[in-house]
Amino acid sequence: MEIHFNKFLLALGCSAVLICGCQRDEPAVTEEPQAAVQETRTAWVDAARLANADAEPENWMAHGRTTSEQRFSPLDQVNDSNVTKLGLAWYTDLDTTRGQEATPIVIGGVMYSTSAWSKVQAVDAKTGQMLWQYDPEVPKSWSVRVCCGVQNRGAAVWKGKVYAGTLDGRLIALNAQTGELLWEVSTTDKAQSYSITGAPRMAGDRIIIGNGGAEYGVRGYVSAYDPDSGEQLWRFYTVPGNPADGHEDATQRRAASTWTGEWWTQGGGGTAWDSFAYDPELNLVYIGTGNGSPWSRAIRSPGGGDNLFLASIVAVHADTGIYAWHYQTTPGDTWDYTAVQHMILAELEIDGVERKVIMQAPKNGFFYVLDRKTGKLLSAENIMPVNWATHIDLETGRPVETDDARYDETLAAKKISPGPGGAHNWQPMAYNRDTGLVYIPAKQEPSVYKLDDSYEIKPLGMNLGVNFWDPPGEIIELAPEFGAEFQGSLLAWDPVAQKEVWRVPHTAFENGGVLTTAGNLVFQGNADEEIVAYNAETGARLWSAPTQTGVLAPPITYSIDGEQYIAVVAGWGAVSANFLGLVLNPDGDKRNVSRILAYKIGSDIELPPLPDLPARAPLTADFGTEAQVNAGAGLYTRYCAICHGAEVISGGAMPDLRHSAMTASAEAFQSVVLDGALEDRGMVSFAEVFDQQDAEAVRAFVVRRANQ
Ligand code: CA
Repeated sequence: MEIHFNKFLLALGCSAVLICGCQRDEPAVTEEPQAAVQETRTAWVDAARLANADAEPENWMAHGRTTSEQRFSPLDQVNDSNVTKLGLAWYTDLDTTRGQEATPIVIGGVMYSTSAWSKVQAVDAKTGQMLWQYDPEVPKSWSVRVCCGVQNRGAAVWKGKVYAGTLDGRLIALNAQTGELLWEVSTTDKAQSYSITGAPRMAGDRIIIGNGGAEYGVRGYVSAYDPDSGEQLWRFYTVPGNPADGHEDATQRRAASTWTGEWWTQGGGGTAWDSFAYDPELNLVYIGTGNGSPWSRAIRSPGGGDNLFLASIVAVHADTGIYAWHYQTTPGDTWDYTAVQHMILAELEIDGVERKVIMQAPKNGFFYVLDRKTGKLLSAENIMPVNWATHIDLETGRPVETDDARYDETLAAKKISPGPGGAHNWQPMAYNRDTGLVYIPAKQEPSVYKLDDSYEIKPLGMNLGVNFWDPPGEIIELAPEFGAEFQGSLLAWDPVAQKEVWRVPHTAFENGGVLTTAGNLVFQGNADEEIVAYNAETGARLWSAPTQTGVLAPPITYSIDGEQYIAVVAGWGAVSANFLGLVLNPDGDKRNVSRILAYKIGSDIELPPLPDLPARAPLTADFGTEAQVNAGAGLYTRYCAICHGAEVISGGAMPDLRHSAMTASAEAFQSVVLDGALEDRGMVSFAEVFDQQDAEAVRAFVVRRANQ
């Protein structure tokens, strides 16, 4: 493994911070081009255009359309009276089969998107013709350093360049016209398990990028770069480092006073892996931060404490990265209640006063409205039933936790809702300025938590401090009790009254992100392999189209030559869809068909029928003792289930091990699990944590499940 790892570092050129300079024959694109280079004008987005995005509703120029991240389009050609005439205008196949979560950007008729393994595409947004694709050649073995799949949530565009983060921690800048690499920087230490799946954002003339890895022992931070040169401008750490090294500033010293024990030895976490927003007037960047590393506070910070800035919204000054304010949604998080979920900036009238607010529905089940100048909590109510807290105390701004919620203060197993999947995860919500409602892809996904009382840091797999692999024994139910109920819904929420206006129940708990438009519409893809339009005021289902695959990514809209399009990156996979195939794919007929789909009024292209699912390999006969099968079950649950599915039931995007030829013999299985025969597909060797006996026990368990 040592040799393998060194080779790996060499291949990545890990010592070079600036891997590839931007020195080219022609001068770097720093000034607005003249008419002679008209083509690059189309991708010429700058701060003035972004701040005035509503003047050009035909474009979708930033991740959330505007830096307020409202995901509301003023386009209304497609509306509640004609949406039934919407049909498929074009589709473009993607060449990756992992989860797709991207929000495309559209400027001047060109769509810039990303797909799994951090690939970047430019597509003619009128015809679907692929103009170029850039593959940053992420080492496939990096997949073992990410909890939740190898997807990517999108690009940023700025002055003729397209930017994306890569799974292995790079920020890349491409020529928007040609897809040629202009520069790339390594934003992370490749000796640690950092990853990037989130989209970079422009804040003024700086490009902002976060990272993930809180399940793998890293210290989270957000960096700002010069979009022309790739020079690092500032870095804000979301959790404090080792005091012996000296804290970076007074903010870090203050944060450290809320931690106990030797948290820095395990990174601390707090990674900002998805959500940012930017207010150009206040010149503040809003950062959504993640869970602690490890999850359990009892292990991470044994003397307690709030552990700033975990599970928080942190505002920093865009020019300097200096702290402005923070609001912690889950003090002393111990449940993986990240606050990286989508944040929306809006102006709301509250108690007769017009307020500049920031809104978020983090994983913990509450919907928060804060004053975005000061961070003051204005209101918070739960969007789904929760049992870890009774309410948020508006005086203190803190949740009032229920008695048994801190599972890690005893050894008992506790069933808590939300679970680590959250009442709302990364799937973006949307705010409609006309209806005044926020549309939330909400879900109920309770989980049994139990402290891992023999916790030690492992080189592979997630380091959580929560024991999900041993049978939990007696389970304490918190009130209200949830049974085995998983639910998903599209929820219309009034952020001023803090109450539900309507709710559309889905058949599955995991569904797509949301778009809303001035046409009084809400669009959402779902696990039932369709994209649907709803009446934004009432929730009435008005239109749907088959997508042939589950949809997780949020739709967007744009207009070309006077025609409005609705587009979505379709594709199934990612964490819940992989891990909970048991719930989401019990019949085994789900699959991932990764495509960009675009719809317009009066069009009626049909998707070609899908080929039959591949023939299943014959089942291997049961073998192994009960003890061996039980040992295999524990190892499988700990190391394999996150991708291949709990109880060996695949979600549909990853190989179904029950029907894999690899289980036919110990040799075949070990060639993959121990020797890394499929590393080029992302299945690394687990020889660091499995010996031959372990591998055979896992195979015995997989075969037993296959025959059940
Ligand atoms: Ca997490």
